[in-house]
Amino acid sequence: SIEFRKAAKSYGDHQVLNGVDLQIDPGEVVAILGPSGSGKSTLIRLINQLESLSDGEILIDGKPTRQLTGSALRQLRSRVGFVFQQFNLYAHLTAQENITLALERVHGWDKRAARARALALLRQVGLEEKAQQMPAQLSGGQQQRVAIARALASSPQIILFDEPTSALDPEMIGEVLQVMKDLAHSGITMVVVTHEMQFAREIADRVVFIDGGDILEVAPPAEFFARPQHARTRRFLQKVL
Ligand code: ATP
Ligand code: MG
Repeated sequence: SIEFRKAAKSYGDHQVLNGVDLQIDPGEVVAILGPSGSGKSTLIRLINQLESLSDGEILIDGKPTRQLTGSALRQLRSRVGFVFQQFNLYAHLTAQENITLALERVHGWDKRAARARALALLRQVGLEEKAQQMPAQLSGGQQQRVAIARALASSPQIILFDEPTSALDPEMIGEVLQVMKDLAHSGITMVVVTHEMQFAREIADRVVFIDGGDILEVAPPAEFFARPQHARTRRFLQKVL
């Protein structure tokens, strides 16, 4: 589980997340929606400490995660995977090496086991035959699927996605959403910042709407889209639907 308790984030005197409370249960798929600049990326980057909290707490499985360093931070990151909008693959490594790198260097796997694990993960995202390709030789959709496989390498219980399809050409969005859809049924906890309303509607267990650094609504998608409670939510939905 992930629990935000009055979690706040400021940059200087600019508060971008205003003491939010949110509980996400194991195995839940949560879609984070909201306008640009509302604090969506900040919210999920705080979970695995890509950003540090200014105030409040975030607990993972009941344990506070504040200001971890060294091996405790590495352990957190191995339990919480992250997929970026811009894939962030290592350009000088093959698809397979992008996955084996952390397994060998961080988790101490031997080369042969790491390679086998990487191939199995590439198979899971439909890219086993691309194992030896460099990122530049792959389409955007394929690169993002490699990035998802890499995020899964350490068998995280939680995976965070920050607009995973926003940098893709329209014809590649479907293949990435399909991989995420399969993953959603695997029991892993997923927190997905997205502009894909169809994904939120069909796959998410709950939708979180955030605006101006506040969580304004948390509801199952059927309820959220049919009966938004807040005027700001209705305005947002009018623009995006
Ligand atoms: P988008 O949909 O455009 O990705 P977002 O909802 O993800 O937006 P955040 O990236 O969380 O928004 O940013 C929230 C606010 O925090 C914005 O006003 C942004 O300008 C500000 N912000 C984010 N990162 C920093 C930073 N490193 N330094 C200063 N301000 C920042
Ligand atoms: Mg963002």
